[in-house]
Amino acid sequence: VTGQRPNILLVVMDTARADAFAPYGASATSTPAVSQLAAGGQAQQMFAPACWTVPSHASMFSGLLYRDARFGMPAKTHADYKAAGDLLTDRWLPVVLGRAGYETAAVSTNMWISPQSGFDRGFDRYSQLTGARSLHLASSSWRERLEWSWQTLRASVDDGAQAVENLLRNWLASRGEAPFFWFVNLVECHSPYLPPRPYNRLSASSRLRAADEARRYLNFDAIWKGLCSTTDAPGPALERMRTLYADSVRLMDDWLARVLEGLERGGLLDETIVIVTSDHGENLGEDGLLGHGFSLDDRLIRVPFVAGGPAAPWPSPLASLVDVPAWLARSVVLDHHPWDALQAREVAVAQFDAPCGPDDEAADLTISTWGLGAAARRRLTTSFACATNGRQKLLRRLGREELVDLVADPLEAAPVVVDAAIEARWAGELTALRAALDQSETAEAGVTGMVTPEGSSDEMAELEGQMKLLGYL
Ligand SMILES: [Zn+2]
Repeated sequence: VTGQRPNILLVVMDTARADAFAPYGASATSTPAVSQLAAGGQAQQMFAPACWTVPSHASMFSGLLYRDARFGMPAKTHADYKAAGDLLTDRWLPVVLGRAGYETAAVSTNMWISPQSGFDRGFDRYSQLTGARSLHLASSSWRERLEWSWQTLRASVDDGAQAVENLLRNWLASRGEAPFFWFVNLVECHSPYLPPRPYNRLSASSRLRAADEARRYLNFDAIWKGLCSTTDAPGPALERMRTLYADSVRLMDDWLARVLEGLERGGLLDETIVIVTSDHGENLGEDGLLGHGFSLDDRLIRVPFVAGGPAAPWPSPLASLVDVPAWLARSVVLDHHPWDALQAREVAVAQFDAPCGPDDEAADLTISTWGLGAAARRRLTTSFACATNGRQKLLRRLGREELVDLVADPLEAAPVVVDAAIEARWAGELTALRAALDQSETAEAGVTGMVTPEGSSDEMAELEGQMKLLGYL
């Protein structure tokens, strides 16, 4: 309909790091559909404000850093997140777009992005398509392990992408006159990185090895222990994981190609803003790290953000996922919206809230159970934040500032304590980075009132169990 607002399709490829995509440095053949989308649109330098799923999505939906959104400490359950999000209803992206006349629908394959955590808020239609594959990762039964190996050998099962594609086709066929806002979360490149053939390039014997390695190094205990210190996965196992991770990204790129074709056949492509992004990246063995957590390094906070269709240009080359609601409001010309006006940005901030306080028994238990040392304890109990301009990154933790020159230390393995020499060399950069961190620390919480989560239930206990199996905190 002429004069109508554009449709919006927001695709989060969960755990996809920017450099897995051709517009951000991967080979030209790695993601042809995303490249084509970028060629006709824009590929933005985008930073996630957190290193894991829930706070990052909360920022993308509320326009707030996650501490302001109260999605941070203390450690949260699904019910806590639902309660925190309920206080943000008036600035929750799907709610605002729904009030502006959009038909809204969401589908998630991530068990954290779920109605239990409140992520169905504002969506007219919501589908949860979480697979059960990861639950077998920790099984100790011989029969289930055999099934796991057999399934991995056959490599015929995805993590929900095909089911999501079928659902999108139904949404297309049954949509009304109003413009739509559709949100999709895909977890194909989330661990345990076991894409189906033909994407899976490993030989049969290597697939069996990968199945065993996923059970050994990608179960909850191993990931948690690895995040606190370093992964035990040996080089060849990490190499297989990197191959399968890239294969999983390629699977999603072909998925995207078919979805774009569907929009084109329906005559909707030119009037739909199609966004491909992620909530955080992934460590795949760099500096001994595996998974996402306890770190704000660029492998985790640099995410893709490619947009095609009638979207507003970004005001600066660098942006944060907290800017997404305001950018969409500008793109679809919402005159009244609750978010800060979109502005040019030179620095992005990311925050990490440690799962344990220094005096928590859980920290003692973790350290003793896995025989870890003082460095692991510090990681487990130290919250911190960083500000980055894409070239330098300032870390602030325990009242101390450290600088990473990303050009000289791309792995971010050796942050340097800010002393007089650093002050002198990076004076201008430090001023801007500090200002951003200061602002994030003094920003008023985006909500008022107390968060009052519901008590635990059997269902919650079950979900927490699933969370652990998926390697989340
Ligand atoms: Zn995630």
